[in-house]
Amino acid sequence: MKLANIDGRAALVVAAGTAVDVHKASDGRFGPDLGSVYDDWAAFRDWAQNAPTDAAVPFSPEDLGAPSPTPRQILAIGLNYREHAAESGFEAPSALPPVFPKFLSSLSGPVTEVVLPEGGNTDWEVELVAVIGREASHVSEEEAWGYLAGVTAGQDISERVIQLSGPAPQFGLGKSYPGFAPTGPWLVTPDELPDKDDLRLTAVLDGDTVQDGRTRNLIVPVARLIAELTKVVTLYPGDLLFTGTPEGVGLGRKPQRFIRAGETLVSTIEGVGELRQTFVAASGR
Ligand code: ZN
Repeated sequence: MKLANIDGRAALVVAAGTAVDVHKASDGRFGPDLGSVYDDWAAFRDWAQNAPTDAAVPFSPEDLGAPSPTPRQILAIGLNYREHAAESGFEAPSALPPVFPKFLSSLSGPVTEVVLPEGGNTDWEVELVAVIGREASHVSEEEAWGYLAGVTAGQDISERVIQLSGPAPQFGLGKSYPGFAPTGPWLVTPDELPDKDDLRLTAVLDGDTVQDGRTRNLIVPVARLIAELTKVVTLYPGDLLFTGTPEGVGLGRKPQRFIRAGETLVSTIEGVGELRQTFVAASGR
């Protein structure tokens, strides 16, 4: 199943470029907003298997919002690929990698314009994002995928000056400017993926492929992340987990390279789809 947020309403994607409005197709049982669908995920998933699809209508990527638009929490994982930890100047974590929040005001859908913070070094990080489908506390690694609604693509856009300033790094703030958490283009349930633990992820900046990794190289894979995190925090339906980025970020390049106004970043995850961000200068607004 592919579940999209079209103009603020939950919609099932049934063919390339067409979707069915969930609220209408379910006679008002689910939706209209997408956030509420995760609160009743098991019932929704059962209904969606045989949902009527004859009322599908076309949509365009610009109509899409975040596939989980109102999560209670957005967690993100740092340094979860070995080569990315090395290029960032850190040792690869031996147990749990660093965990930090991306604040809700940074969340967006897949096709956006992002303002570059003045005086900043804005960088890219393509990441697989897990979406929680069931309240999760003290979940075992074996059970963990069963607590996910599915996955989507994410960009953990990062302003490195703030992120690395001060006595301890400011990961949460540097990664939470408006539009710094694009997600989408839709939620994909695990059964639709070629291999849920081995997906290719790429980032292309102005035509240059800057990142090209695979999720099989995650130091701590998705299921173990859920198990480790839920020893401490409770995850709620609709919560987002950014799982970390592979090597190839601008911070780790020689010379370093950051995003410039006018550039376009396309981030793709195999079996999921793509995000497209264009960047503008703060003064250009
Ligand atoms: Zn990241």
